[in-house]
Amino acid sequence: MRELPLPADFEEFPEARKKAFIQMKELKESGRRIVGVFCTFTPWEIVEAADAIAINLCGVGDDNAKYAEKRLPQNLCPLLKASYGGALHDRCPFFYFSDMVLAETTCDGKKKMYELLGELRHCHIMQLPPGRYGKGALEFWEKEVIDVKEDLEQFYGITITDDDIRRAIHLRNRERKAILDFYEVGRLKPTPLTGYEITTVVSSNDYQFDLEKKIEYLEHRTAELKDLYEREFKGKPSRPRILVTGCPTTGVMEKVVKRIEELGADIVGFENCCGPREKMDPIDEELAKTDPIRAISEKYLRVNCSVMSPNPGRLEALGKMLDDYQADGVIEVLLVACHTFAIESDIIKRYVTEDKGLPYLSVITDYSPADQAQLDTRIGAFIEMLAE
Ligand code: SF4
Ligand code: SF4
Repeated sequence: MRELPLPADFEEFPEARKKAFIQMKELKESGRRIVGVFCTFTPWEIVEAADAIAINLCGVGDDNAKYAEKRLPQNLCPLLKASYGGALHDRCPFFYFSDMVLAETTCDGKKKMYELLGELRHCHIMQLPPGRYGKGALEFWEKEVIDVKEDLEQFYGITITDDDIRRAIHLRNRERKAILDFYEVGRLKPTPLTGYEITTVVSSNDYQFDLEKKIEYLEHRTAELKDLYEREFKGKPSRPRILVTGCPTTGVMEKVVKRIEELGADIVGFENCCGPREKMDPIDEELAKTDPIRAISEKYLRVNCSVMSPNPGRLEALGKMLDDYQADGVIEVLLVACHTFAIESDIIKRYVTEDKGLPYLSVITDYSPADQAQLDTRIGAFIEMLAE
């Protein structure tokens, strides 16, 4: 693997997660409100406005996925199974300490899984419209956002004011900008940071519950990397530059993300929910001055996820990222049994190869180590072809 300098305080994702367990226990004991969340469609600002911590419950770990199979069919996406398995068997401290869960009806597997999760914890399910362009979609979604606010008020016995929401919007927009700037270091050629660092730092920073500290850390690291580029990287040759797209990759960070780089390429960006997908699109603070709920509703309805039909925004975002990040090729990571991304992959493949004239590879995988050799062979051959 190309040796790139990591920050002095760099922590592997599992370490950061373990530390966060302890922190979460302390926060819970100190009386903080904790709301478990799963998805990019979640209106985090409403949770923030309720003075609650939103903690990501997306499951990782093949062992957690296996535990879920006692109640769920085996042939389901590993993310979904690991999330449920961790909750069911008290193996996810974040779920354990969550007062309630806020989830959305995204893919079929997730929405049915949430029904079972509701047996374990108060689960507020937001009904997501199946597409953002349908008649009344925005009005429908806005009512769902209002429902979340009212449920949080009732659940915690609090009042959430418009000013609370506006403050939360401003803070979260600042956080978005700090994360986006960090991601965009990957645009530099050659990149001074690995995709493994990008995804590890961003995922680990989900466990930094003090948002001001999180923003400060990201701004500092971004400035450090830009300086490093000027001093040591500018003008040097670049390895093949890969853009990763598809399903969320947190659960396959070691077996796919790290391996792509060990096999000779640089991951410069992620067009998935582990990348800048929603960070590129801040909440409209002008609109929020008069109608903060509408501003939040509009923003989250624009998330470019394959569960939306149609989903043309994803192609636009992908095309822009391919140009901005100067990608040489695309690897689409599909989790087993994720039908929406698997079906959409045909459109993505044609767009990448025909419209953008770039090589494309798709890999289907889960959280088990069983297919590592096969993945290595396919990814290795793809990278070799890019390097020729
Ligand atoms: S891929 Fe879609 S369903 Fe999954 S976390 Fe992202 S927005 Fe949510
Ligand atoms: S990766 Fe696909 S199947 Fe899995 S939870 Fe996300 S949208 Fe659903």
